[in-house]
Amino acid sequence: IYGAAVILIVVFMPDGIWGYLRGLLDRFKRAVLPTRTSAALQLSGGGQGSETVLEVRGLSKHFGGLKAVDEVDLTIRRGGVHALIGPNGSGKTTTLNVLSGLYKATAGSIVLNGQDITGLPPHARTRAGLGRTFQNIRLWRSMTALENVMVGAERPGSPAGNDPAALAERARAALAFVELEDRADEVVSSFSYGHQRAVEIARALAGDPVLLLLDEPGAGLNSSEKVELRDLLKRISARGLTILIIDHDMTLVSEVAQHITVLNFGRRIADGYSADVLKHPDVIAAYLGTGPDAAA
Ligand code: ADP
Ligand code: MG
Repeated sequence: IYGAAVILIVVFMPDGIWGYLRGLLDRFKRAVLPTRTSAALQLSGGGQGSETVLEVRGLSKHFGGLKAVDEVDLTIRRGGVHALIGPNGSGKTTTLNVLSGLYKATAGSIVLNGQDITGLPPHARTRAGLGRTFQNIRLWRSMTALENVMVGAERPGSPAGNDPAALAERARAALAFVELEDRADEVVSSFSYGHQRAVEIARALAGDPVLLLLDEPGAGLNSSEKVELRDLLKRISARGLTILIIDHDMTLVSEVAQHITVLNFGRRIADGYSADVLKHPDVIAAYLGTGPDAAA
């Protein structure tokens, strides 16, 4: 009888008796309590300012003899979506890491919203208005979605300041923006890959950035999740926030981005309006590994 009881508990209550009771309690609360509707997420989008949000000149990052990023210039205009594309290993992630301060630039300058951030550590760049997500999702897996996003909301000078209640409120609004508000109190490791990516974006949005850096947010998503991602990017953009996105999906890139910069072997090989760049023979050659004639 004891053995049978253990087997039944393993099968029907995988979270244990307490986990089962808590599940019932949660379901009860959800049914009885009115669902909280948070205030809409306030995004200042960096406010007004010059037409350029980010001005990068001669940016290089060398790892010993390897020139992962080599004298790259990048100008990002306010309010649009700018895509950074290129084959694997062309230096896209390294560029983002140098922009956000995880790597120290070998050479070059980075000016964000008129402020030179080249020598600043990552947290000071966040304060200056950089938000980012990672190619390999980096969330605190044992924390809830809300707790993860609250960390992003907490920065000096941000709308929520450092007051826990205001931080939670702002985090809830950010989760509502990515349509995950009803799962705010669930542990993030139980989320699907696509939803984890959305939580990362919410965490970046909670800090009210001037410029949002997204490293392959579409990687590993299925086709319906990609449609959701595209709509989310459009909603963010509609709020006036500037986005720099790395992605391999040319359909997504051509749908959301107005400007494209292309890297190959760490060097910038093309830059300009999306339609022109995607027709550029060097870009076609870099992507298909053939001469422009064959590619055409
Ligand atoms: P992408 O994101 O465009 O696929 P990466 O920026 O990740 O490319 O990498 C560009 C090049 O830099 C690759 O050759 C990679 O091996 C190298 N690289 C990236 N990070 C490091 C590092 N921390 N140390 C040494 N080499 C690195
Ligand atoms: Mg990369």
